[in-house]
Amino acid sequence: MRPEETSEWHTTDLTDHCPARVRLRLIGKISNRAPTAMVRGMAAGAALEFLHDHKVDEWGTERASIEDAINYGLCATRESVESDNRILTDAAEKALDSSIPKEMAPVLEAYVRRLGPIFEKTELIGTEVPIRLHDEGHGVQYASHLDLIVYDRKHGALGCGKGIVILDWKWRKDSPSKAYLARNQQFLLYWLACRYGKLLLKSPFGEVWQQLDEFPCMAWVHLPSLKPYTRKTVVKNDAGEEIEFKKGDDRPLRQIVRVVRFEETQAENALKSLSKKIEMYRKGFWPCNPDPVGCGICEAEDFCTRFDTVSLEGDE
Ligand code: SF4
Repeated sequence: MRPEETSEWHTTDLTDHCPARVRLRLIGKISNRAPTAMVRGMAAGAALEFLHDHKVDEWGTERASIEDAINYGLCATRESVESDNRILTDAAEKALDSSIPKEMAPVLEAYVRRLGPIFEKTELIGTEVPIRLHDEGHGVQYASHLDLIVYDRKHGALGCGKGIVILDWKWRKDSPSKAYLARNQQFLLYWLACRYGKLLLKSPFGEVWQQLDEFPCMAWVHLPSLKPYTRKTVVKNDAGEEIEFKKGDDRPLRQIVRVVRFEETQAENALKSLSKKIEMYRKGFWPCNPDPVGCGICEAEDFCTRFDTVSLEGDE
């Protein structure tokens, strides 16, 4: 099948800054290596799923200890890498045994301590929830998974107001700018799917596709910001006052839970903008946007056109 004929489009296809890589991925031209950054995010996500599969008041106790969450995250990651036919790089193999569990421990400890009391005021809808959205007008079917979705009906405890909140766990070096979040197509798809699409949710009768018919609030959970400050810093606290934080102080919550409130009147434009990209792909337009940092760590680089002066086989 040609990549342009893909029937179900995923968030990775929309958010990858390089559509050339999307095309190469769709035709299987990517390496099967699983590098450290990838497995770190996977392990953290699985460990957090483990916590949310338990009652919040059990987090950090014998029933759902941090150690068990980490071990679950590491095992789930190894299983997932294997089932995807990927191969851990030597560095990732080493990191899974040593640095990743060490990095995860303080982050999970802070997640339990700081976000536990907040999640206690919410009601879990699900973790790793499959979603589908069909854009009839453009004949596009979208598919993805939500990391975490909760009802925050009574308290607005997550700072998003009252209602449904979709949270996405991210372990990235750089915290996203507001400008980036406002245009984040992964978040837009989740937001639209919650209102117009279907979610596969657990019910007493097993898993059932359900419509929630409600616009959620979106939140990027920046996991590295759960680590305390490593030096003296002056930034705004959660009350909006500029204060000095000392080494070892917790960072403000607003740096951890980055809330995005999309404008409901923009829903139609948002859907149009997602489908426009798919329309371009379908017409075989996969523009290449080389990136000064990204190309250096790109998993499709071996297969991607290059224009430099490296001599190729057959050259003089
Ligand atoms: S090497 Fe660069 S231009 Fe090519 S697919 Fe990767 S990121 Fe895109």
